[in-house]
Amino acid sequence: MDSDYKTSDDIFQCVMCGDCCKGFGGTYVTDEDIEKIANFIQCDPIEFRAKFCDKSGSKYVLSQSETGRCIFFDDKKQCTIHSVKPRMCRSWPFIQTVVTHPENWDTMANSCHGMKKEVAYETLRHIVSEKIKKDNGSAQS
Ligand code: SF4
Ligand code: SF4
Repeated sequence: MDSDYKTSDDIFQCVMCGDCCKGFGGTYVTDEDIEKIANFIQCDPIEFRAKFCDKSGSKYVLSQSETGRCIFFDDKKQCTIHSVKPRMCRSWPFIQTVVTHPENWDTMANSCHGMKKEVAYETLRHIVSEKIKKDNGSAQS
């Protein structure tokens, strides 16, 4: 494994540019995400789907405003639902697809300035799978 990269912090540091809130193809929301966000903004989940989501195939994604960013993005405050943001936003960029296809990291890093480029695939696999395990553990505890 690369000696320089040991932990998730070594390969990713968010620079708060907000570029990922342009969606990168859509911010997917699960039913659990919808429940949490709807509760946070005091809206009924059915109304939430109608007002703040679009369909992408059989799944829901958060709608975008006329700026092309997520409807919950604010220029000053960034994510206005930070404490309940969707799992996809909380997990980024430590997602399962990188473990199975580490080359996806390079593609993602082209859009996200916080991700280190040119990390060896074995190192990525190790760090990302450890981070996913850790996050899943803390989500259940
Ligand atoms: S694009 Fe990357 S660096 Fe920018 S806000 Fe999103 S996660 Fe952070
Ligand atoms: S929910 Fe928040 S972090 Fe996720 S895309 Fe929207 S503004 Fe960005």
